[in-house]
Amino acid sequence: HDKVTIVDVPIDNLTKNRLLDVVYNEIEQKQKNIFIVTANPEIIMSAKKSKSYRDSILKADFIVPDGSGVMMASEILQHPLKEKITGYDLVHTFLSYASEKRKSVYFFGSQEGVAVDAAINAIKLYPNIRIAGTKNGYLGYGQEIAEEIASTNPDFVFIGLGAPLQENWAAKYKHLFPNAVVMGVGGSFDVLAG
Ligand code: UDP
Repeated sequence: HDKVTIVDVPIDNLTKNRLLDVVYNEIEQKQKNIFIVTANPEIIMSAKKSKSYRDSILKADFIVPDGSGVMMASEILQHPLKEKITGYDLVHTFLSYASEKRKSVYFFGSQEGVAVDAAINAIKLYPNIRIAGTKNGYLGYGQEIAEEIASTNPDFVFIGLGAPLQENWAAKYKHLFPNAVVMGVGGSFDVLAG
């Protein structure tokens, strides 16, 4: 597939179904991890301001367009992206898949108690998911925490630290998750916790 460059960020131009095909295939093969960035305007502008943040998001396997603003920008550039793929929508899609395939999910980020409530609601919606663990996003972001999360061997690592923290964390520690899907999810735990 082609890419559409918006403010120096190369966005993958593929449908959600195509993305899911590739991701689920990798999960079954267990050969490598997949780092997904859901690029909203905030992320794209942060990448413009910070070279180190841009370097982090360029480590992603997929950068997908999160929101109508990014879709509209691609139309103005006369290189329209095929489909909007938002982070919160992907969270639900992956939770549903995890429930069907009995995969495990780690919820890292948000205020104390929020990731736990989000996990409880996730189980209500998707009864067969396995919660690998939860951790609030204010206990630090270092190697020790990353190794603790990795020790639970999650199939999906959802990082709800907001941008730029979540993508910087994913870029730095994704090697500890050799066959997981690693994705920043912004404020998704707050929404899922209700
Ligand atoms: N957050 C965190 N640790 C931090 C800073 C933020 O866990 O050091 C969490 C915050 O509690 C919230 C999320 O990161 O749940 C960021 O939400 P925001 O709405 O800013 O993200 P967006 O959805 O706009 O990307």
